[in-house]
Amino acid sequence: MQIIRTVDDLRRWSRASRSTPGNMVGLVPTMGALHAGHASLIRAARDACTHVAVSLFVNPTQFGPGEDYSRYPRSFDADCALAEREGADVLFAPSVDELYPNGPASTFVDIAGLGDRLDGASRPGHFRGVATVVAKLLIAAEPDRAFFGQKDAAQVAVVRRMVADLGFATEIVACPIVRDADGLALSSRNAYLSPAERARALTLSRAIRAVESLVAQGECRGQMLIASADGVFSDACSAFGSGPEIRIDYIALVDWATLLPVETAAPGALFAVAAYIGATRLIDNTILK
Ligand code: AMP
Repeated sequence: MQIIRTVDDLRRWSRASRSTPGNMVGLVPTMGALHAGHASLIRAARDACTHVAVSLFVNPTQFGPGEDYSRYPRSFDADCALAEREGADVLFAPSVDELYPNGPASTFVDIAGLGDRLDGASRPGHFRGVATVVAKLLIAAEPDRAFFGQKDAAQVAVVRRMVADLGFATEIVACPIVRDADGLALSSRNAYLSPAERARALTLSRAIRAVESLVAQGECRGQMLIASADGVFSDACSAFGSGPEIRIDYIALVDWATLLPVETAAPGALFAVAAYIGATRLIDNTILK
């Protein structure tokens, strides 16, 4: 596996890789601290493309003031080993100056409306930072396909809209959520959780499962689904009593493309939750059947 540090070298590699007819380049954008969720994206890229690049960049423009940019987990050597093991051809690990050569306040991609919904409502400017860095990565790597996790479902919607609006020739592929055996969605931020917080963090996946089983029983009223997830959180707060706080950020049933609320759970609708467990903000979701 080759480690590439500059945009020019990445573009050169991508163009050389695609010079043979039939070859396809896949890109897996990440912020590192790679886990089995990231590994599943690399494998999906490997299965669908002849050449695979994994990008590893903790993007400062998607973190708000006071968020965890400086303490975000960084594990370059372990990330290299995982990416290589899963079959990546290239690990693209640029510096901040390489991706933002004119400083952070330069050109931004703003997805009006969509960018302010769900996580964008709680984290102002987050999706502007995400869209900007993903645009930079797509321009640099010129991939045929880029692979994202449904875990960050609102991010998928934002990226898909950006690709459609700006006419990128990259297909956006969303891959299923990878979970721990007990249901917790894998996340680099799970590393922040103390054992007491880890136990409380299961509330998110429990709420998601409760909603999935209600839908399986035929319930499709959004209000009822939201109330059921809300009930799982209330029960958890009562059951745990004292200790780290469990605080809902949002519980929402939305259209996955627009992120606007819907009243009825039609197939393909996104049911999403975000909650603080202690100081750590976690997200989870399901795409309804
Ligand atoms: P991150 O490094 O957290 O920015 O994530 C990089 C990519 O991995 C994003 O597209 C995420 O949605 C995806 N991802 C993160 N966690 C998971 C997971 N548990 N299952 C599947 N994909 C994931």
